[in-house]
Amino acid sequence: MALEIFRLPALADNYVWLLREPRSGMVGVVDPADPAPVRAALAARGWRLSRILNTHHHADHVGGNRALKDEFGCEVVGPRADSARIPGIDLALGDGDRLAFGEEEAVVLDVPGHTRGHVAFHFPSARALFCGDTLFALGCGRMFEGTAPQMWASLARLRALPDETMVHCAHEYTQSNARFALHVDGANAELAARAAFVDAQRARGEATVPSPLGLEKRTNPFLRADDPALARAHGLDPADPAAVFGFLRASKDKFR
Ligand code: ZN
Ligand code: FE
Repeated sequence: MALEIFRLPALADNYVWLLREPRSGMVGVVDPADPAPVRAALAARGWRLSRILNTHHHADHVGGNRALKDEFGCEVVGPRADSARIPGIDLALGDGDRLAFGEEEAVVLDVPGHTRGHVAFHFPSARALFCGDTLFALGCGRMFEGTAPQMWASLARLRALPDETMVHCAHEYTQSNARFALHVDGANAELAARAAFVDAQRARGEATVPSPLGLEKRTNPFLRADDPALARAHGLDPADPAAVFGFLRASKDKFR
């Protein structure tokens, strides 16, 4: 394993991802919601933070930037399309940019929709995706600053990555996402089995993230908006997946 990845719970339901590339010793953190759990995890391991990677500007993703940069002098990397809203940003990146991380490399994908400048970091050789609030386990982010065609296009780009890619999203929302997913895709047997597994995991107090992208492709309704059976089940035109996606996202916004 060439990229060590640690999940740090933060705030009410955020996950901050601590990364270390062992050959170089480079240490980074994705979307530090809060400096405290990051500081504690670094101290416990005797590590220094060299880089913050931000997916988007929301406070529950950049809340630790200033304090961690003051303490460690680390570099802050974030979306070029939203650089004015990323506290302490040093390096602004956009679609297709490659970011060396020790001996590893991340490819940046622009995935607007949740916010207008949202990026995902894909580490192909480590088979790891850090996608902030764009794609969640069994769900996707709300469209605060984007349109359904834009968000659908962003999710379709993430879906094009290999099945073995592990999806490291920024929130533990899976159990409530599963309830909605079953509501709109009740005929999906693999989804039903996954939802039961998620319930059992949560009952044991376990995290449900990360999840394999292949599993998301088969069970996450927001990645299935171009499945003709799902469209027809809701009386929608299978030829317009962005509209199906928009219907699903709007339904989720109103769901219970
Ligand atoms: Zn957000
Ligand atoms: Fe968030």
